[in-house]
Amino acid sequence: MEHINPFTNAMKNLHRAGAALGLSAEAVEKIGMPDSIIQRELTITMDNGETKVFPGYRVQFNNARGPYKGGIRFHPEANLDEVKTLAFLMAIKCAVVDIPMGGGKGGIQVNPKALSEGELERLSREWVKTFYRDIGPDKDIPAPDVYTNPLIMSWMADEYSKLVGEDTPAAFTGKPLEVGGSAGRDTATAQGGFYVFQELAKHKKMVPAETTVAVQGFGNAGYHIARLFHEAGYKVIAVSDSKGAIYDKRNGGMDPENIMNTKKQKGMIDGCYCVGTVCDCENYKLISNEDLLKLNVDVLVPAALENQIRSENALEVKAQVVLELANGAITPEADAELYKRDIIVLPDSLANAGGVTVSYFEWLQNKNGESWTEEKVFTELREIMARSFQAMWELSQEKHIHLRDAAYLLGVQRIADAMPTAKE
Ligand code: NAD
Repeated sequence: MEHINPFTNAMKNLHRAGAALGLSAEAVEKIGMPDSIIQRELTITMDNGETKVFPGYRVQFNNARGPYKGGIRFHPEANLDEVKTLAFLMAIKCAVVDIPMGGGKGGIQVNPKALSEGELERLSREWVKTFYRDIGPDKDIPAPDVYTNPLIMSWMADEYSKLVGEDTPAAFTGKPLEVGGSAGRDTATAQGGFYVFQELAKHKKMVPAETTVAVQGFGNAGYHIARLFHEAGYKVIAVSDSKGAIYDKRNGGMDPENIMNTKKQKGMIDGCYCVGTVCDCENYKLISNEDLLKLNVDVLVPAALENQIRSENALEVKAQVVLELANGAITPEADAELYKRDIIVLPDSLANAGGVTVSYFEWLQNKNGESWTEEKVFTELREIMARSFQAMWELSQEKHIHLRDAAYLLGVQRIADAMPTAKE
């Protein structure tokens, strides 16, 4: 398998955009340079009394347009290259949807599934004790990412408030509603992706009942997008999690809510017996995550981790549309291959920007002491996603470039405009 450094991939995209926009090499270099890379050891006491050390990260990328903003990932393979890449993508993403935020990302290299709840809480609070001077509601506002969730954000916001001596809900987003979270934040990433998809579906005149969908990943992004497709009448025929995938042999479309219940209960569903976290039964066939990517579906949604569609499997992707909910799910080589084959990629920088957009709404509500209804959140979100899609679509048509490049052009141009020294 090709070795993929995700940061190198992100820089390839940036350089292409910089050249197309006529930016100077110096300006491009500046945009591709993090403002700070912070790596510190986090030490906690485990339940058995032993102490354990975990590498912790925060990378901040370009605050010319506003405070740094981006999630914290808990994953055994989290590393600096990954966090750096994701922080850069956040800067681009915020600019693509035109919200006044820069890029940030954090992480801990840990397998959270191997920790007790008490250990997870101590580790989450330790991240804040270690990084709280580097973040803050006007400086850098973290949020959830892979294997972090509203509960973890509530511990983190609480720890931050204790350390600075005042209640500061705006220091973290993605919190539970009761402690200053926003209505709609839990489903915002998927909801935003779905709005983007719906704009494309209008152009392509796609009919829900005749359109099949496969979703890789069944967490915050993956579960909710599968649910939204199902609720809108699309046929979801495959979903997966880290342990494997299930494919609906009937081609009739599975109900993601039932699958989620089964996943939680590991019991019987629709004549299925569930083994581990996926179901093996008459109607469903167990397949691998790799097989899911190659299914003969109309829409493929990678919603798990990066580098899933690579040069060695891009030729086998059969979908007409790839909705890239996971960050960096497609390598540049694979992207070029998909473009050559007229497969439309709705790129991560727009497709999953609903999460940060509603995080921005949450931050605004906390700052202004407001509490928006879910209807207001989704109305504003839809408008932003539809407007951003339209801008990206028109630019791609006008310049005959693929959608990722069009999104990058919009984002990079906006960042360059906010950095007077980046202009030629
Ligand atoms: P999550 O932790 O809620 O879910 C991750 C899912 O991926 C789980 O179902 C897990 O089982 C699955 N998974 C893990 N490893 C896998 C593998 N090797 N193959 C297949 N599935 C695997 O995470 P999430 O928040 O849904 O994030 C998923 C992606 O979406 C990430 O790329 C993340 O950066 C991106 N994203 C999330 C948000 C958000 O608000 N949650 C916002 C923007 C982007």
